[in-house]
Amino acid sequence: MSTEKNFNNTEIAFALKSKTELQKAHFLFKIMASPTLVSVGSKVALVSLKLGLPVKGLIKNTIFSQFCGGETKQECLPVIYKLNKKGVSSIMDFSVEGKESEADFDAAAKKKVELVKFASEHDEIHIVAMKPTALGRFGLFQKVSKKAELTSNEQEEWNRIVARFDAICKATYNAKLRVLIDAEESWMQDAADDLVELMMERYNTERLTVYNTLQCYRWDRVDYMKNLHNRAKGKSYLIGLKIVRGAYMEKERERAEAKGYPSPICASKEDTDLTFNTALGYILDNSKDFSVFVGTHNEPSSYLAMELMEQKKMERNNNTVWFGQLYGMSDHISFNLAKKGYNTAKLIPFGPIKEVIPYLIRRAEENTSVEGQTGRELSLINKEMKRRKA
Ligand SMILES: Cc1cc2nc3c(=O)[nH]c(=O)nc-3n(C[C@H](O)[C@H](O)[C@H](O)COP(=O)(O)OP(=O)(O)OC[C@H]3O[C@@H](n4cnc5c(N)ncnc54)[C@H](O)[C@@H]3O)c2cc1C
Repeated sequence: MSTEKNFNNTEIAFALKSKTELQKAHFLFKIMASPTLVSVGSKVALVSLKLGLPVKGLIKNTIFSQFCGGETKQECLPVIYKLNKKGVSSIMDFSVEGKESEADFDAAAKKKVELVKFASEHDEIHIVAMKPTALGRFGLFQKVSKKAELTSNEQEEWNRIVARFDAICKATYNAKLRVLIDAEESWMQDAADDLVELMMERYNTERLTVYNTLQCYRWDRVDYMKNLHNRAKGKSYLIGLKIVRGAYMEKERERAEAKGYPSPICASKEDTDLTFNTALGYILDNSKDFSVFVGTHNEPSSYLAMELMEQKKMERNNNTVWFGQLYGMSDHISFNLAKKGYNTAKLIPFGPIKEVIPYLIRRAEENTSVEGQTGRELSLINKEMKRRKA
């Protein structure tokens, strides 16, 4: 592989990390390599926070500082400025989950609109992120996805969800920024897809504002994307897609098995990789109609995107292609991409420690279960430690 297309330069990857920070990351990834430690640690952290034991400082200095930008927007600024110095943009994501009341949903929408304003005041931020079920009840998304008839109260509740989506997308459009809308479980996703399509129709007419998320571990997603493309052509708006593999694989498979319907997930990792790469190819073949956000820690898919852009003679900083990784993971991909001139961003979750714990546990579990991820992080950190010693 040419040096142009490799992410092996650990000096670039860890330029922002001091010796102590590198040692801390090494220690954390070592712990995350053990499913037992992750499982016990997660339970201890949850119980300690519930009991009000003084563990906040410990969590904040370890796993929180590895994967989150801060507890507030302001607290994230030093991270955002540091990333910007290396050409990496920041996507801020207020990462509070599992709320269920109308007051919580209104508050979440208000916070997102404030976040868009904050982003518009900082040149280092071009994109914000949001999650559909932060703005409305999961059960209602599920019912709308089933095309079940809603009661008049439910219809009003759904209208409020539409209004919250609209307020955020409109604020993003007015600020000339972009918003990534997450994809979640397949049994609520149809409702979210239809709603995001409506937002694209409203706010992607003269420029790209809204991205939906395509979870390529679902075998039906390439067809979904092609149908979306056909519908958009008829109505002349741009399509924004964040392409990812998907984060709920075990849950999806278990539910399908328990309820006796065919699993929506590809039969193998190879099939998921193929779906991801096929979607990427289709989008770049039709780049006049699409903008893509390549959300992955997978090296071959990242190389493929670079290769296809080169074949199509697209400028590296062409605004229709962005790459993104989660803060605290795969720095070798992010910083090497940015150094080569590609549009690159880190997704930075933030929020009060107690509230982001579910996100942190997911990250720890993912690093335990995603084959090779922790090993990859550790070997890169080891390589950089050795390089610095030499
Ligand atoms: C910026 C960003 C935004 C994200 N947003 C979302 C989002 O909105 N919604 C969401 O669901 N996820 C989201 N994710 C998470 C993402 O879906 C993946 O879980 C994660 O990135 C790991 O996939 P990968 O492409 O990085 O790497 P890889 O390590 O190459 O792939 C791991 C993934 O492959 C798939 N996989 C693994 N084994 C199998 C198997 N046996 N059969 C079939 N498929 C398999 C799973 O999806 C697994 O997560 C996001 C990730 C990033 C970086």
